[in-house]
Amino acid sequence: MRGRRPLADHHLVVDPHRPEAGPGDEARARAQRPAESGRQRDGRGVPLEVPEPSPDLLGRSGDEHVEPEGGHGTTVGLSVTVPTMERMSTPALGAHVEQTDPIAEAQARKASLVQFFLGDPQGYKGPEVRFEGGAQALRSAAQEAGVDLYVHAPYIINVATLNNRIRIPSRKLLQQHLDAATEIGAKGLIVHGGHVGADDDPEKGFDNWRKAIASLTIGDTPVLIENTAGGDNAMARHLDRIARVWEAISATQDAERVGFCLDTCHAWAGGIELGDVVDQVRAITGRIDLVHANDSRDAAGSGADRHANLGSGQLPADELADVVRAAGAPVVVETPGGAQEHVADLDWLREHL
Ligand SMILES: [Zn+2]
Repeated sequence: MRGRRPLADHHLVVDPHRPEAGPGDEARARAQRPAESGRQRDGRGVPLEVPEPSPDLLGRSGDEHVEPEGGHGTTVGLSVTVPTMERMSTPALGAHVEQTDPIAEAQARKASLVQFFLGDPQGYKGPEVRFEGGAQALRSAAQEAGVDLYVHAPYIINVATLNNRIRIPSRKLLQQHLDAATEIGAKGLIVHGGHVGADDDPEKGFDNWRKAIASLTIGDTPVLIENTAGGDNAMARHLDRIARVWEAISATQDAERVGFCLDTCHAWAGGIELGDVVDQVRAITGRIDLVHANDSRDAAGSGADRHANLGSGQLPADELADVVRAAGAPVVVETPGGAQEHVADLDWLREHL
């Protein structure tokens, strides 16, 4: 069962420059060009996390209204104060973007965080920073722009597998990506839970997770393990398995530097009840560090990893919003399309949270 990988093919659409573009990628790759699409609704067309007061409240025409630079304006003019509670309850929002200039991608989406790959998400070749000027330049640019960076590790990483020829390079690749993520000042490195073969003992997979974490040198950037949608012998599809992974990891010295990334599409398609998933996960891991807010093209329990734009898939809107709200963590949408579609998804979140 070595060749069997329940991989997230939604992710294949987000990096149009990767060599192995699959079917259906082209249209999305076209939509990915942020420079055109993201600017179309620049300025007042893109609601920020802080709602703009209406011109009536300001007592003057909307045209003279100041641009809420960076989305942090609490007051506009002298008399209008944006409700503080509302601002506080909206988590930081962002998207998975193309890696060449994540800062520009964030700005095109009016997002305060972005997630991206470092290099080829499907290859064993180590990470690369494609941002002009390299890792330090990206780190400074992100700081200057006030954009938090998250790195998604390659899909091929499977530290749980019993297959040495996959597990050993997976560990190496994980360390390399962690080092690179730390170098750019990323807030987290997201890695999938992986799986063992259909006939393998999952206990060995849990123990391989323990060994992987024990052998890892974790700096400032935590490792965030993400739940996955498919596979019968996945490590992080069902809650009982996630609990076993966590038990195993807890035995390591660096356990506190390992966190959790909850993907709503994966939970739904994987067969986890969304109603109490946040409580259940917190009971196991004690934390949720990041939410991947994605709708699902497919039915609950289908095991299919196909992300949809928010409101256009099969997840009940209120349940999706409830999970994101309850998690209280930064949010990344990994949905089809480019800046324009992501802006719509982030707006959807602002409306529903
Ligand atoms: Zn995800």
